[in-house]
Amino acid sequence: MQACSRRGFLSTGVMAVAGGSMMSNPTAQAQQKGLIAAKKPVFVATWNFGKPANEASLRRYTEGGSLLDAIEEGIRLTEADKSNASVGAGGKPAANGKVQLDACIMNGPGSKAGSVGGIEDIMHPISVARAVMEKTPHVMLVGEGARAFAIDQGFAPANLLTPEEHDAWKTWKKENQSLEVGEDNHDTIALVGLDGEGNLAGGCSTSGLAYKLPGRVGDSPILGSGLYVDNEIGAAGATGVGENVMRFCGSFMVVEYMRQGLHPEDACAETIRRIARLDGRPIEELHINFIAVDKQGRFGAAGTGKGFPYAVTYPGYSQVLQSKALSQRAIGIEGGNAPIDQQP
Ligand code: ASP
Repeated sequence: MQACSRRGFLSTGVMAVAGGSMMSNPTAQAQQKGLIAAKKPVFVATWNFGKPANEASLRRYTEGGSLLDAIEEGIRLTEADKSNASVGAGGKPAANGKVQLDACIMNGPGSKAGSVGGIEDIMHPISVARAVMEKTPHVMLVGEGARAFAIDQGFAPANLLTPEEHDAWKTWKKENQSLEVGEDNHDTIALVGLDGEGNLAGGCSTSGLAYKLPGRVGDSPILGSGLYVDNEIGAAGATGVGENVMRFCGSFMVVEYMRQGLHPEDACAETIRRIARLDGRPIEELHINFIAVDKQGRFGAAGTGKGFPYAVTYPGYSQVLQSKALSQRAIGIEGGNAPIDQQP
């Protein structure tokens, strides 16, 4: 009954609008800035590629999937996109030339979670993470054990290294061999959502830092670091240099700031400021970014340096927005949520 009315409601507006057309309406404007509750379900994801992922999530939900199905579907889209060199198939390999993927998923009701770290040869680590959550008594599997579990569950092994990334890796090996972390050799899809019943869920998937030491696991599959969902409060996800998130339980911290009453954008910004204080380096050097949605459906994001693009999608609206930006020179002055006019 609930599902029927939900579908009826959604069918009037889903995907019909790609942002902008409701700008004359002050309520719609406030929703699009994340200031008041967005229409539900609402999906919030990192980077430009978060927009098609969010839209896949909304589609899946509209078709009758659960919030968790929707989150998984959106992330699977990004994982399958071989042109994306930081998530799933086509991801940049570790220093030994092997693509090693990290992912986790978390459901608000019951705080259920599953995770895989450093898994090889499996295109959809998000689905393996979900299988860990649903089919084992554990939360996290890593390396060869995670791969064996996936194959046992029917996931087909696949070669994830594209010819382009193989060539790039060979060049790196020949010319460089350093493990320097640049701004452009890593990214993550973190995707969080709130459904019509007020439940929260999220997922996170990445190939991690390019040419990382084999076996390196970042923040993304670590609950509380790359992702955290608290069904009473909100959900948060991270992207950026994992080492600068996982020492601080970054996503958990964002959720805790929301618990204290902060708006999601302020919670993300305050987390970055606190991490920078504790770390001691200038904010710009940390390369960390957070997204968040609260239990009401308000959303926001903040990132270091110039900030980062993130995507917000709800019935009748789907847009890439610019996050709040934090730098040492002007801590937190740039307001977030200006639409970015480039699409997938
Ligand atoms: N957080 C990811 C990692 O450290 C990379 C990223 O999101 O840029 O593995």
